[in-house]
Amino acid sequence: MRVHLTATAAAAVRRGHPWVYRDGIAGGGENAVQRGERRRGERAPRAAGAAATGDVVELSAEGAPFLGRGLWDAESAIAVRVFQRTQAPPLDERALAERLERAFALRDGWFAGRDTTAYRLCNGEGDRVPSLVIDRYDRAAVVRLDGEMLAPWLDRLLPHLARALGARGVRSIGLRARAPSSASGDAEGKKLAHLHGPPLPDRLFVREMGVAMEVDLARGQKTGAFLDQRDNRARVRALAAGRRRVLNLFSYAGGFSVAAALGGAGRVTSVDSASAAHASAQRTFRENGVDPAAHEFVTADAFDFLEKARARGDRYDLIICDPPSFAPSERARPRALGAYRRLHTAVARVLDRGGLLCAASCSSHITAEDFLATLDDATLERDDLRVRAIHGQPEDHPTLPAWWEGRYLKFVVLE
Ligand code: SAH
Repeated sequence: MRVHLTATAAAAVRRGHPWVYRDGIAGGGENAVQRGERRRGERAPRAAGAAATGDVVELSAEGAPFLGRGLWDAESAIAVRVFQRTQAPPLDERALAERLERAFALRDGWFAGRDTTAYRLCNGEGDRVPSLVIDRYDRAAVVRLDGEMLAPWLDRLLPHLARALGARGVRSIGLRARAPSSASGDAEGKKLAHLHGPPLPDRLFVREMGVAMEVDLARGQKTGAFLDQRDNRARVRALAAGRRRVLNLFSYAGGFSVAAALGGAGRVTSVDSASAAHASAQRTFRENGVDPAAHEFVTADAFDFLEKARARGDRYDLIICDPPSFAPSERARPRALGAYRRLHTAVARVLDRGGLLCAASCSSHITAEDFLATLDDATLERDDLRVRAIHGQPEDHPTLPAWWEGRYLKFVVLE
């Protein structure tokens, strides 16, 4: 099966961008796939026809008979995920298993020992296995597919996965159902299907640099936890020493909260609209030997909370603000920038002089410069803060030079 690309799409593939959008196909989408296949006299196919989701396609362009190979998706806006730009080896489950083994071997080095038992084993495109994300939670691994093109491959890949992960102490493998678009934590049902090994626990404790953390595999966000904030949680732990009052907005399962408490903060206030998240955070506090009663858990809208806190005259000397993505698409960008500004203005009003502000954004459509503009003097209505550091995602969430979409996480420390 051959897919002929436009010059622009071909240039992106050459740079190593792993996606071909449907409008990057010369002659427009479905029919281009057919062109090389249809015999004379055959009727033009009505729909995507010959190429089914998950089929291997060869990419070509004007003056480039072979650009690479990828997998076809008949439905999504991303029509092809590019796996290789060389003729050999063939694109089959063995080639994919080799790439996965490489990804796993890197983690063996990064996470040797038992201090950290939860991490991303494969970051899809960033590990050159497009669409396949695998997170490890101690003895369990959770697979998530972005798009459907690898779904038909899963049965063939599973024995390879079970072998490679089993050798590393993973006993159970589950499949995360597509996350609902809602950012709320109150999921109605389980989002995890069993793939291999003993049944997966609904909830378990993992360790992150020695800190215990409860993970809700069945109903939690992402594949259960926000593993991408691991290094930033450790940073907050270090920054919290000697802080009297810490505010963690959008606290979810309390990862930043427990980090601050363990780091020596006096009193930590966690704010999230989902009460189930607080229950999980409190179990995590206890597991780490911290009494949750010495801290505060508020179920509220973060904007409302900030308004009231300001009216009460409450002030904090460390604030962590890590909201859900405000810009899920390019179209949502202007509105998202406005929302970040409103949020940061409100946050700055309850930040003590001499206080620290950690502001995060997990939207790839908001660049670091965009995000910093929502933290400028005009927005914060003050002129005493400097950017101490700008952090991103950790090494187990690698990206590719040409795949800017993969670099979504910003974590700005202002002081
Ligand atoms: N900081 C967390 C991840 C935050 S995820 C961590 O590192 O683990 C976003 C969280 O924001 C979710 O728990 C969701 O329930 C909460 N949330 C979404 N909208 C909210 C709002 N308007 N006010 C308060 N919490 C909100």
